[in-house]
Amino acid sequence: MDSTTINKNSVLYTLLNQYPLGDNISECLTCGACNSRCTWFDGEGGPLPRQIIRMAALGLDEALVKTSMIWDCLLCNRCTEVCPMGITMDKVVRKARSLAIADDKIPGDIKKGIKNRLELGDVNGLTKEEFVETVEFVSEEFIDEVNDPLAHIPYDQKGAKLLYLPNPRELGINLMHLTAMAKLFYASKQTWTLSSRHTDVTNWGYFVGKDEVAKQMALMVVEPAEELQIETLVLSECGHGYHVLKYLLEDLIGRKPEFEVLSMPELLVRYAEKGILKFDPSVHPYKIAYHDPCNIARKSGGYDAPRQLLSMVCDGVAELTPNREDGICCGGGGGALQDSTATKKRMITGKPKADQMKRAGLPNLATACLSCHRQLGELSAHFKLGIKVVTVASLASESLIL
Ligand code: SF4
Ligand code: SF4
Repeated sequence: MDSTTINKNSVLYTLLNQYPLGDNISECLTCGACNSRCTWFDGEGGPLPRQIIRMAALGLDEALVKTSMIWDCLLCNRCTEVCPMGITMDKVVRKARSLAIADDKIPGDIKKGIKNRLELGDVNGLTKEEFVETVEFVSEEFIDEVNDPLAHIPYDQKGAKLLYLPNPRELGINLMHLTAMAKLFYASKQTWTLSSRHTDVTNWGYFVGKDEVAKQMALMVVEPAEELQIETLVLSECGHGYHVLKYLLEDLIGRKPEFEVLSMPELLVRYAEKGILKFDPSVHPYKIAYHDPCNIARKSGGYDAPRQLLSMVCDGVAELTPNREDGICCGGGGGALQDSTATKKRMITGKPKADQMKRAGLPNLATACLSCHRQLGELSAHFKLGIKVVTVASLASESLIL
């Protein structure tokens, strides 16, 4: 390549050529293997992974930002899996999204969610008073659910062993999911709590590639958790929340937190293996297909816990093909699900997943991410698949032996 054609002073060129071997975009061989893996590639429009890397490698920041590719990319890293040089697409795309010249391309909903999260602790703008009101309402229902007048959903309990960090949907349109999780904690007989200071597992700073925002959001989780002196932060089923809080956390905040981080399926598998929780698989006497959320599986290596848990609560796991590191994105990743203007686009990005669900021929599908859960449910309705989509932890709650 003629170096006179490369703008080595560009922000992207500088940012993306400072990583250790394997993350240096100058090493791109232009082979195009990445294109063959993008599930958008044969669809309508979408990103061209090789083109993204070439534009970044040439320092064509403005031209790249002007394309829709940096927001079309689902940050799924399916292309990265086959890159001979190990170039990590989500790093490149998030760096491009983070450029000041790309600020006006950030979807309005995502800007608003970030503002809410930073100012109120919740992307949906739930205030502390609303949080308390919601939790106390669910708590009353919970007493009936477990038929125990002493049962409740605790919050701000200093010294509790477990702190549960819910998905915002569990405090809004999916209160039943919070009740189902509370039932699992109740059955475990371990002390647990929610926190009114940070109500939300999400980190949309990750979507916009702004590390300083992602760090601020991560600290909004870490510092109150440490003040409560918990042992374990238990993450609601959330793909990017898991990737940020379990996989990237130490790099983001520059230290180890004073607690361990587990996803809900990871905690439940541990408790089942210790005999603390017992499940009855006959409650679901059929096989259930499993969808790997990209952020939990390919991007964080979390393949096993959801499968182990699923095998304890139904007649067995049915694998979609391809799966694990080769799994197909649900089509809602990278912030697409959080952008209300992208609903139509998500039915295009999700078509390969819908085709895969149809091929599996099973009426039940589980996943370990509430965002994937929503996207897969919408795909099932849009493509008339008739497939019921559930989360792995909610199945566990249904199978509990109390
Ligand atoms: S990260 Fe996913 S959506 Fe983005 S270019 Fe790669 S394969 Fe396509
Ligand atoms: S697979 Fe890797 S090396 Fe090949 S074109 Fe894509 S980014 Fe470049």
